Amino acid sequence: RTIDPVDRSENVFPSVEMLAQSDPIAVQIYERHGQSLAKRVGAWFSRLGGLFLRMLQMVAVPLIVTSLMTGVIGLGSSAGIGRMFRRTIVYYLCTSMLAITTGLFVVNVIRPGLRGEAVKVAKVETSDAASLVDVLFAQLEAMIPKNPLSALVAPNYLSIIAFTIAFSLFTISVGGRTQDRIGSLATAGFEVMMAMTMAIIRLAPVGVFFLIAAVTATQGANVFMSLAWYVVAVASALSIHALITLPLIVKFVARRSPFEFAKAMSPALLTAFSSASSNGTLPLTMSSVEERAGISNRTGSFVLPLGATINMDGTALYEAVAVIFIAQLHFGMNLPLSQQIVVAITALLASVGAAGIPHAGLVMMAIILHAVGLPMEMQGVILAVDRVLDMARTAVNVWSDSCGCAVVEALEGNDASFNATTDR
Ligand code: ASP
Repeated sequence: RTIDPVDRSENVFPSVEMLAQSDPIAVQIYERHGQSLAKRVGAWFSRLGGLFLRMLQMVAVPLIVTSLMTGVIGLGSSAGIGRMFRRTIVYYLCTSMLAITTGLFVVNVIRPGLRGEAVKVAKVETSDAASLVDVLFAQLEAMIPKNPLSALVAPNYLSIIAFTIAFSLFTISVGGRTQDRIGSLATAGFEVMMAMTMAIIRLAPVGVFFLIAAVTATQGANVFMSLAWYVVAVASALSIHALITLPLIVKFVARRSPFEFAKAMSPALLTAFSSASSNGTLPLTMSSVEERAGISNRTGSFVLPLGATINMDGTALYEAVAVIFIAQLHFGMNLPLSQQIVVAITALLASVGAAGIPHAGLVMMAIILHAVGLPMEMQGVILAVDRVLDMARTAVNVWSDSCGCAVVEALEGNDASFNATTDR
């Protein structure tokens, strides 16, 4: 028989029935073309999941602008903003440092780079790493957009946040009817954007399904075997931070049930996991925090956009583990304590500089490798598993931002709204 169930022309699906049945010829052909078939199916899943991500991107900018304006103008004074800003930054710094410490502890205990056969180094093309000062100064420059409209169009979230906060603060200082008008316009826009986002949330299960199916179809299992201990180290450190450290903070500082809170945040956490982008997830994080966890708009709209840009516990932890792993492979021993401290500090700053998009952490890692004198090419070793680890660290990034909301809300003494909405 000369049956060829696989249509090899581009972008055409093979017949699923053909693959499923146990016709020996079909099985043979499947074995021969399995990988490329999986990749093709994966590509389609990723396009379908991409539609969901596009919807989130579509609402992100207007949602952030209207929400931040409503929140800041609602705070009513720049003193209120200053206090909330300090609390937010202290939370972000403390949790990122805790995450890095956890990562360093776990990677020193598991020692993934000193176990089994040394992983063959895959050379990758890398450009020269920008210096840390350059990266941080660029963040500062982004906060002063030369043209706020092009920041909106780009979109550049840090510029948008900085300009919107400045605009809202000056709205308060002008006061009177101007403040009332701008305030009510922002609130009206925010209500509509929130309704749109809530509608998109309903599609989250389907979107998440396609995105995860795409990753499953395109990532081979054998890739994980050679890096298994490294994956175990990153995954256990992320789990400790996400399942123990942050819940304890929610429990004892924010004084609410971490389990209930995580349940309320589940659409955002699942989307962060499947999309590997904190920026992309931001609309869902904001709507889940406000509509499902009952945190006030003034806290959510302030803490979350800032967090999606600068607070990345998962990324900071991951960078520390990855660099120590690479050092173990390269030197055949652990880095001395002094060098590990350099790794910790640069990992913190690199995570602040990393954008909330897929693989951003990998790009920023060049800075840390440079700081401790490791060759950039060594990054090639971990490339193969970066996508999956990116999903996990992004979920932790978004979880930490959400816990930050709960903490700041509690410190601001706005608990009443939570109690009211959880009963809904
Ligand atoms: N993908 C991460 C995020 O969006 C950043 C990273 O690559 O670590 O939060």
